[in-house]
Amino acid sequence: MAQKPNQPEETLDPSDWAEVRAIAHRMIDDSVDQLSQLRNRPAWQPMPNAVRESFQSAVPTGPTALADVYHEMQQNLMPYPMGNTHPRFWGWYMGAGNFTGALGEFLGAINGSNLGGGNTAAAELDRQVVSWLKDMMGFPKSASGTLTSGGSMANAIGLNVARNVMAGVDVRLEGVTALPQPLRYYASDQAHSCHQKALEMLGLGSRALRLVPSDAYFCMDTKALERMIAEDRAQGLRPACAIATVGTTNTGAIDDINEIAKICRRENLWFHVDGCIGALIKIAPKSHRLVDGIQHADSLALDPHKWLHAPFEAGCALVRDAKQHFATFNLHGDYLEEKPRGVAAGEYLFDYGYELSRGFKALKIWMSLKEQGSEKFGRLIDQNIAQGDYLMQLIKANPKLELMAPTKINIVCFRYCGNGGNEEKLKTLNTEIMLRIQEAGTAVPTDTTLRGKYCLRAAINNHRTQCQDLDLLVAETIRIGDELQAAI
Ligand SMILES: *Cc1c(COP(=O)(O)O)cnc(C)c1O
Repeated sequence: MAQKPNQPEETLDPSDWAEVRAIAHRMIDDSVDQLSQLRNRPAWQPMPNAVRESFQSAVPTGPTALADVYHEMQQNLMPYPMGNTHPRFWGWYMGAGNFTGALGEFLGAINGSNLGGGNTAAAELDRQVVSWLKDMMGFPKSASGTLTSGGSMANAIGLNVARNVMAGVDVRLEGVTALPQPLRYYASDQAHSCHQKALEMLGLGSRALRLVPSDAYFCMDTKALERMIAEDRAQGLRPACAIATVGTTNTGAIDDINEIAKICRRENLWFHVDGCIGALIKIAPKSHRLVDGIQHADSLALDPHKWLHAPFEAGCALVRDAKQHFATFNLHGDYLEEKPRGVAAGEYLFDYGYELSRGFKALKIWMSLKEQGSEKFGRLIDQNIAQGDYLMQLIKANPKLELMAPTKINIVCFRYCGNGGNEEKLKTLNTEIMLRIQEAGTAVPTDTTLRGKYCLRAAINNHRTQCQDLDLLVAETIRIGDELQAAI
């Protein structure tokens, strides 16, 4: 006779669903208040020490009522976010999120499916989102793709397929020490750091990434690319892959996609496009020509958490040849055999990337795309590009400001010069301007250094930004700059 354990059985479900329902309703109400009142909040604010210290408390071994847990979050967490949902946040390169996407995160968790695969509607929806992204990018139906945590992971997937295809040996079996020739990848000196990390992870080493000089527009010098490929061949290395950046992080520069594609075809290189910033320009009715040619990439990384404003995280890798993609990642344990029927029927999704268990990232993208339509997202991309142009004009029109890079899309690099000064002085001055603007909660620009010149940078990847917000940024930059200069 089987003996049932004599402990009473426990569960994580609440004992009083009605109470939890009421708290959950309040959470939604507070969320709507928060988003609808964003303009009246600081773009960012520092947290008091007491708040920071509250995160040092030890593991809670006993229970706390959900209402109290939520109260603590309202006190210590919610007032101190990064600020990228705010209309005047232009730091690094983020998306601004959206309410429907946030509901998608929640409902995805309620659905609870593991998107490693399975015979579920969730898996079909995941495939549909990838297929929509393929269509939006002009990729053929036969291409494959996978949603990832972000662009770094999406790029790593593309560079991994490239390595396996170009290795000249079964690199999954033999490993990189068996490569007949060291592989070389090429990207402009403006390329994102994630490519180096990916090559380190792939065992090829950072030396495998050759940085091609960029021209006056911060685009890859394609003549230099051709020279470097020839040099490397002459030295017995194997040129394997060129990475075109479509929208660089520093300045938004767009490499000459078609020229790089041509070189790849002629030289027999894998053609990867890092489109984390710019690939989605493809759906913008006014600007789409800027990225014509990305549809010819062998692999493409894009970032729905940037210009589709999916709440973090959501990236996507697309690969033209689905077989090569599958051959790079497919691997099943004994416990993961596919079946003709039942819950394990259909193709697993984990065969297209590193991760086995996967979250339901697709739902937040699916819901916002359905609700708004891709045309709206395209118009919002054009809107940000027009705002970038507007900010550039404001800067050019003001003799106290200096435009630091050509503005092609929505990233504007500039600095206050007032009555001038050496590089070091200008850096100190502009850093202080930036920090004061951030600390006042006015706006969040960040900074960068372009060819040794320090500058402020506004990446207007934000569906809430209006031109008046950019007027304020310029006015405050000049006001604070003038004040600081007068004090010296
Ligand atoms: C943001 C970005 C990445 C990295 O993407 P994550 O989503 O942050 O991992 C890669 N390349 C470019 C050009 C980017 O702007």
